[in-house]
Amino acid sequence: MMQDLHDLTEEQRAIMATARAFTDEHVRPFTAQWDRDSHFEPSLIRQLGDLGFLGMLLPTEYDGLGLDARSYLVALEEVAVADASVAVMMSVHNSLPTQMLNAFGTDAQKQRWLAPMARGELLGAFALSEPDAGSDASAVRCQARRDGDSWVVNGTKAWVTSGTHAGVVIAMIRTDSPDARKGSKGVSAFILTPDLAGFSVGKKEDKMGMRASPTVQLVFDEMRVPADRMLGAEGMGFIYAMRSLEHGRLGIAAQAIGIARAAFEAARAYANERKQFGTPIAEFQGIQFKLADMATRITAARSMLHEVAAAKDRGVPVSAEVSMCKLFASETAMWVTTQAVQVFGGYGYVKDYPVERYFRDAKVTEIYEGTSEVQRIIIGRAVSAGK
Ligand SMILES: Cc1cc2nc3c(=O)[nH]c(=O)nc-3n(C[C@H](O)[C@H](O)[C@H](O)COP(=O)(O)OP(=O)(O)OC[C@H]3O[C@@H](n4cnc5c(N)ncnc54)[C@H](O)[C@@H]3O)c2cc1C
Repeated sequence: MMQDLHDLTEEQRAIMATARAFTDEHVRPFTAQWDRDSHFEPSLIRQLGDLGFLGMLLPTEYDGLGLDARSYLVALEEVAVADASVAVMMSVHNSLPTQMLNAFGTDAQKQRWLAPMARGELLGAFALSEPDAGSDASAVRCQARRDGDSWVVNGTKAWVTSGTHAGVVIAMIRTDSPDARKGSKGVSAFILTPDLAGFSVGKKEDKMGMRASPTVQLVFDEMRVPADRMLGAEGMGFIYAMRSLEHGRLGIAAQAIGIARAAFEAARAYANERKQFGTPIAEFQGIQFKLADMATRITAARSMLHEVAAAKDRGVPVSAEVSMCKLFASETAMWVTTQAVQVFGGYGYVKDYPVERYFRDAKVTEIYEGTSEVQRIIIGRAVSAGK
């Protein structure tokens, strides 16, 4: 069921095959165990780096592959079919910290951090959210004060994907004065590394799904950050973060499509094996209709994603369309995984089969990188203004 992928280039087909071969050997056999143990497998960072999958969109001068968005999304979907936790690590790294460094970093910053990130020597994380700043991310409270050639930072970041293993964290921190707040224009982006004195990893979340992706708080206690770790201009961090989230949401859409595809493929296989009333349940029209709707929605989500990603590559402003992709793909993933559990009946509700994991993993795609409500706000503003 890949009707909308018929026009992939030879190179994109090769990337897809590479991703599938890699996950078949190094990911898929361990996915269920990693989920049970909440285990993040650190060797994957270097392995994905060796494949070029941690620098797919980056320029070759910084050791990236310099590929188009569609090539990247095809690889990401394939990884998500095998393991959504590995896919979110790959998506965050490729979409948020590396894109911010590439777009707004100096050459010195790119040589020092971006090239090792592209090679898979350093994993990237993105720290915007805080315990009290979620959908309203401009409400961040982590505070930096200038002290000579450094900034001294205090505060807590929440929900940081890959925060336990990240070698580089791009964090959005207030640099305005507590006496003269500038709202979203008082936030700057910083390049943090775990070796900074005062940087520590805090609480690890015990999550419903995506259990092999560590999600943690980062605690900054009088953390001294050299001034040359600021990324881009002072006061621009929130705007940079919002721009990079456009890349991020395309990645989450691909991840959601991968989860949905895994659930569809499992449901189809099971429906052909499972017999009731003396016949495979796939023979029942009630089950075929479910499979038909699952396949249709997945194909629609992927077609929209690839078209919008190609337009973004051409420089077309597609902010609302990116939100549509993320909204539609994540709700597709939730819907398809729910149907997959239903096709499995009671066996869908137990851990002997993978569909309950797909169902748990799918849910968060409606929450992170902007909830479905936030995506509807972005889309609603654009369409009601006639954009
Ligand atoms: C597994 C996981 C990984 C994550 N990884 C990262 C990461 O790497 N980096 C990072 O910075 N963040 C990360 N996040 C944080 C994520 O982006 C936030 O959880 C998300 O933005 C929602 O914020 P919140 O949880 O504070 O919910 P809230 O903002 O408190 O929202 C609660 C509810 O209110 C709704 N709501 C809020 N405002 C409105 C409104 N104006 N209109 C209508 N409804 C509204 C929301 O849609 C939601 O349903 C991650 C979260 C999870 C769960």
